[in-house]
Amino acid sequence: MSAWQLRGACAGVDPDLWFPDSGVSSAAAKRICSGCPVREECQAFAFDSGEHYGVWGGLSEKERQSVRRPRSGPRRHTGGNPPAPCGTVAAYMRHKRNGEPVDYACVAAYKDHYTARNARRAADRAQAKA
Ligand code: SF4
Ligand SMILES: [Zn+2]
Repeated sequence: MSAWQLRGACAGVDPDLWFPDSGVSSAAAKRICSGCPVREECQAFAFDSGEHYGVWGGLSEKERQSVRRPRSGPRRHTGGNPPAPCGTVAAYMRHKRNGEPVDYACVAAYKDHYTARNARRAADRAQAKA
């Protein structure tokens, strides 16, 4: 048993509350967990050890499956398409729109795009004259 477990609010309470039979509510256990000082340690332990059964840190087995362990670091872009990567005309436009400094890869992509377009137009004109 780890040190945090001894400080758990569930110490001395009937452990069956945390391992209810299927169909039986785990609300009582969750209520106790919600005021527990080692809730985070308890959740982390359940995630790390892949506990399948019971309520740990206030999360039932189903809830553990759906939330997964919170990732550290800032969340990146959720929903929608990811922003265009640098080195594309779309990224160049985005930098301009947002007033961001434009990096070399984006400038190069933008230049290539217009160089190619101008070349196409010049070719079209030459053909039209011929
Ligand atoms: S979070 Fe819940 S299960 Fe974990 S130690 Fe605290 S009371 Fe016990
Ligand atoms: Zn860029």
